[in-house]
Amino acid sequence: MAVELFNNGRHVCLAFYDLVDEASDHAVQCNQFLVVDGEHGALLEPGGNMTYNGLLMSMARYFYSRDLEYIFASHQDPDIIASANKWMVTTNCRVLISKLWTRFLPHFTTGRNYTDRIIGIPDEGMAVPLGSCKLKMVPAHFLHSEGNFQVYDPISKILFSGDLGVSLLAHADASKPVTDFDSHIDYMIGFHRRYMISNKICRFWANMARQMDIEQIVPQHGARFVGKAMVNRFIDWIEDLQCGVDLMTQDQYRAP
Ligand code: FE
Repeated sequence: MAVELFNNGRHVCLAFYDLVDEASDHAVQCNQFLVVDGEHGALLEPGGNMTYNGLLMSMARYFYSRDLEYIFASHQDPDIIASANKWMVTTNCRVLISKLWTRFLPHFTTGRNYTDRIIGIPDEGMAVPLGSCKLKMVPAHFLHSEGNFQVYDPISKILFSGDLGVSLLAHADASKPVTDFDSHIDYMIGFHRRYMISNKICRFWANMARQMDIEQIVPQHGARFVGKAMVNRFIDWIEDLQCGVDLMTQDQYRAP
């Protein structure tokens, strides 16, 4: 079932939190998103093959998938974009992904040349028109992938943050907004300490995020941060986090 993150009658943002089967506890819970502006639609983080059918059926109530204009991938991971081939075959959509990954993406397809439908986002980001709005592809490199983008929607003021802000939660808890930030840290910290590259990068991102007008931060796994106070708690937390290469020591590099 879709969760409505925003709806002003013309512009709608939907989140799908329950597409990874509850029984599939061998696979990480993940979130897919649909942004619709009038007659125009974009799927953000379309996911892998195990969620494809569920997403297709769930989104059918809101948008005719064949008319999708874009699918967006924050980075190259399987839970983000392994379903690329299915979307390429069944729709005329174009794929938005960092220019670092455009020549890796075809390995998720059957090898047909889709070059003219793959848009490589330059490092500095770009604006992409969707109906009467312009979605912003915001740089978030090394958070966690080398070429990594988030999507800022200026109508809903939602930042779709990819793997930044992720929490590893049971399905039932993932669809509800974070209410107690301090206790929520337990579900974020392990992932962020290992997957995020370094505190230097977290600080660059925090400085950028503070300049933006963000009402919600919505990550690709787990729960979202709703309202300026909660958004600011997250920005403050990530700004101070020691992670990735900050924490690695020579002990972790010894041949077994
Ligand atoms: Fe990832």
